This record gives sequence, structure tokens and C-alpha cells, in this order.
Amino acid sequence: MSCYKGKYADELIANATYIGTPGKGILAADESTGTIGKRLQSINTENNEANRRTLRELLFTTPGALQYLSGVIMFEETLYQSTSSGKKFVDLLKEGKVLPGIKVDSGTVELPGTNGETTTQGLDGLAQRCQKYYEAGARFAKWRAVLKIGTTEPTQLAINENANGLARYAIICQQNGLVPIVEPEILVDGPHDIDRCADVSERVLAACYKALNDHHVLLEGTLLKPNMVTPGSDCKTRAKPEVIAEYTVRALQRTMPAAVPAVVFLSGGQSEEEATVNLNAMNKLKTKKPWSLTFSYGRALQQSTLKAWGGKQENYKAAQDVFLARCKANSEATLGTYAGSANLAEGASESLHEKDYKY
Ligand code: 13P
Repeated sequence: MSCYKGKYADELIANATYIGTPGKGILAADESTGTIGKRLQSINTENNEANRRTLRELLFTTPGALQYLSGVIMFEETLYQSTSSGKKFVDLLKEGKVLPGIKVDSGTVELPGTNGETTTQGLDGLAQRCQKYYEAGARFAKWRAVLKIGTTEPTQLAINENANGLARYAIICQQNGLVPIVEPEILVDGPHDIDRCADVSERVLAACYKALNDHHVLLEGTLLKPNMVTPGSDCKTRAKPEVIAEYTVRALQRTMPAAVPAVVFLSGGQSEEEATVNLNAMNKLKTKKPWSLTFSYGRALQQSTLKAWGGKQENYKAAQDVFLARCKANSEATLGTYAGSANLAEGASESLHEKDYKY
């Protein structure tokens, strides 16, 4: 059996390729209502629809920011929201040549009999939801699978179960016109070294591409959203950006087909500046790279903006300036031309690590 060749095939390839355009990347602003609540709480702001909308409007309407973005991932609520002047967010993004995306998983549940490993839910009714989101303007989707590194983890059960779930999700998205972002996130939690992270990343990615092929997914119409290969959060030995770049690109070379147009990294608890510098190092690396390497950051694109805003109208413009600076820095990192920032915004160097991160 061959891969997906249905009516959306050309459109999927064009959209996946566009999202991977060097110089651009994805803003992940699809925090669930619970997760965005934690962010708002950190700046003493109530978690209500008005405040969630205002924060998303602040990001999407930042003058000059959309030129550095090719996609924005939204939570369902945001997909149907509008700016304060009544323009649909979806239309605003499209006018800025940014593709609207949608998170379609419904979170993780524990795999019984394992040491806290999980699988991701949300396949029931997924085709109907994808159709509805396509009609509302979405052109790509995200599904986050989570794996962890422990003495005996990830188990083969967790690897297979998550790879299969990602593949089922991916083919359902493609049948309904959405480019699937395949996200097997290996959490940074733990004392393991960078070699162990590389081994696990290679095993997980190899299993994912086996499953995607088995499920007849059109690889040219997908994107990969992996973690970077780094030492664990409790590892005593830290690694330089050049080392992270070498390990990460090598893991991808060994497992990721050249048919996939782009890698859109998650930030995974790195500070804003670390996430930018590591991406920049990968794009400076002289080696075989048949895909573009860009970003799909959540925490690492929003943290200093959130701090600068503080939920206060009088800080709105200053917060947008901070967001613009982060978008521009990451755009440069996709080209390997980021030279650092003379004055980093408050919070830009802070670790954003949260143990056992739920999105
Ligand atoms: P972080 O960049 O904050 O890790 O999140 C990106 C994301 O979309 C996780 O699913």
C-alpha cells in the first residue's frame, strides 16, 4: 500500500514546506485553559476568557512580528476568537501570511503497570474535529506525545504506543487537510547525560517513522517537533550549544527521512536565550541537513513578554517590543546568523523547566 495521495496531498506538501521556510518559525500559543492559567497566575492575572484573549491578541498583533512566523498553534477557544476591534484571529494571521494551527490532542493518561509513562488521548471523533477546524481556517495540527528517561524508561510499550498514536493522528489529519506536526517529546527531567538522551531520541524517532510509514502517512506533508538532544535537567555536566547541535543533528540524520521538509523544535524548559542559541548553533553546523531546522516554541517565545506585560494595559506596548525581539532572534537562529543580544529582557535567561510538564 502506498502513502496518502488524496485530494489534500498537494496542499499538505505546500503548507508543510511553507511552515519550514528558513527565517520563519511557529509560535506555540496553544496552552490549554489550565496551563495558560498557571502563566496568568504568575503575573497575578485572573484566568478568564477576556484575559486569555487579550494575551493572545498582544502576541498576534505585535507590529512586525508576523514576518518572523509561518504558523501559530492555537487552543480551540482561540481559533474562534477575534481582536478587540472584531477581526477574527484566523484572518489576522492569514493576512500576515501566517498559517493558523490547532492543538487536537486531549492530554495524556498513564499507561497502567509502568512507572508513570503515558499515552496521549484524542483519537475518538478526531476526523470530525479536523474537518471543523479546517473549515474555521486551520491548516496544521499538533499532537503531543510524551516520553521520559529513567533507568528502564522509556519502555518498548511506551515507545510503540506513542509512535502508533502519533501515526494514527497524522493520517487522520492528512485525510482532512491538516498538516500533522508529529511531536514525540522526550522530557528533559532526570540525571541522565547527553549520550543517553541521544540513544533514547534515536530509538523513539526511528519507531515514529516506522509507524508513520506503516500508516501510509505522506511524509512530505508532515513536520517533526522533537526535543533537542541535551543532558538531563539534573545532570552535573552541562553541554555547550555546539555539542547540543552536533548530537541533535546526528540523531536526526540517523532516523529522520529527507522527505520531511522541516524540524520545528520545542523548547522543553530551556531558557529563551538557550533555545535561540542552540537553534542557531544547529544552523551554523556544517554537515548534511536535508530539512530546514526551525522553531515551534511556547515557553521560550512568551516568558519575557508575559513578565513585561504583567497583565497591565500600560505595559502592553513594552511587552510587544519584547516579543518582537524574541521572534527576530529566533528568525536569525533559523539562518545561523544570531549574534546574541546586548540587553536581554528580564526573564530571557531564566530556566523555564517544570518537572513532568503538562501542556
Ligand atoms: P515549549 O516550547 O514550551 O516546550 O512548548 C512547545 C509545545 O508546543 C509543547 O507541545
